[in-house]
Amino acid sequence: MNSNLGLYIHIPFCVCKCAYCDFYSLPLNGDVANSYINKIISELNRWGGILGCPPADTLYFGGGTPSLVKSEQIKTVIEKAKELFVLKDAEITMEVNPAENLKEYLCEVAAAGVNRLSIGLQSANDDELKILSRRHTVSDVIKCVKEARGAGIKNISLDIMLGIPNQTKESLKRTIDLCLECQPEHISAYLLSLEKGTPLYNKSSELNIPSDDEAVELYLYAAKLLKNAGYERYEISNFAKSGKTSRHNTKYWQGVDYLGLGPAAHSCLKGKRFYYDRDINAYLQNPKEIYDGVGGTAEERLMLSLRLTSGLSLKAFEKEFPDILNQNIINRLAKKAELFAKNGLVSFDGDIISLTDEGALVSNSIIADLAELL
Ligand code: SF4
Repeated sequence: MNSNLGLYIHIPFCVCKCAYCDFYSLPLNGDVANSYINKIISELNRWGGILGCPPADTLYFGGGTPSLVKSEQIKTVIEKAKELFVLKDAEITMEVNPAENLKEYLCEVAAAGVNRLSIGLQSANDDELKILSRRHTVSDVIKCVKEARGAGIKNISLDIMLGIPNQTKESLKRTIDLCLECQPEHISAYLLSLEKGTPLYNKSSELNIPSDDEAVELYLYAAKLLKNAGYERYEISNFAKSGKTSRHNTKYWQGVDYLGLGPAAHSCLKGKRFYYDRDINAYLQNPKEIYDGVGGTAEERLMLSLRLTSGLSLKAFEKEFPDILNQNIINRLAKKAELFAKNGLVSFDGDIISLTDEGALVSNSIIADLAELL
């Protein structure tokens, strides 16, 4: 397992709020953005000092809309991160909004070191994009992918959404067909979650939202189409061509240390989890870590490993937590896994428990049932 540090930088600016979005973001203000990037640089310096500058091999600009800040600012952050955390052969990802005109911008950030893009497609149906109040159109996405390739970016991920109001298997197929036409290396397919307080949540009673059963159908259908096209599911919602899994996100699921900077960013360092408040002013004045638990517990290892298709090895699990796990517990876990396997929810070879596509849909209850035995 790769144990190099992962770095995450939250860029909390968006042109406007999408109807379903609960991420922390606010309208872009040039002066605030300048101060913010300066703060990120000083925080990189501060954390470099605290941690003793361990090597990192991923840097992820998430948001918000990272492509709203100037390319020189992205370059400054990358250079500082390189100076402090090496970033040798690093995966440097940036989320972009295809609604922006990014042709030159992509060349500039690629020259600065960005080598992976995550593009929010969500749907190839303009009526579904409208319901989500996304600003881009389908043709914007095609253009963005072409421009990214033109800029020399070889690693592209497209985000699609399942369970959008009015979505059908036919409309989902159009979305996946468009993905396949774009030939990204990676595809994330997340089920729409209705977050309290968002405009979509507030008017959900008026919308034709796919039922739980319909959402299950959509997920299984997407998984099948993607598998047939050569994209292996390696995590509940993530699919990739061979060798193109997200190195950064995999750190979260493998329990590798990561440092997240910016309001609402989360970190896990040496077994300690913390985050920053969703408040840019507080962050600009004095970023305060809010500690919220212990990382690296047996329960967490079980939960995170099962998200990954590589699954949980009972042998490795027992070896990692000898004080907590004994043969009795391992036997009970194996028995339970056999039961799930009979119902087609996991595959189990006597050592490795891994969720099937059907099991991935009820991952929470499977994980809770197994965790109960610890
Ligand atoms: S662009 Fe992304 S972060 Fe911004 S409001 Fe829309 S979904 Fe949220």
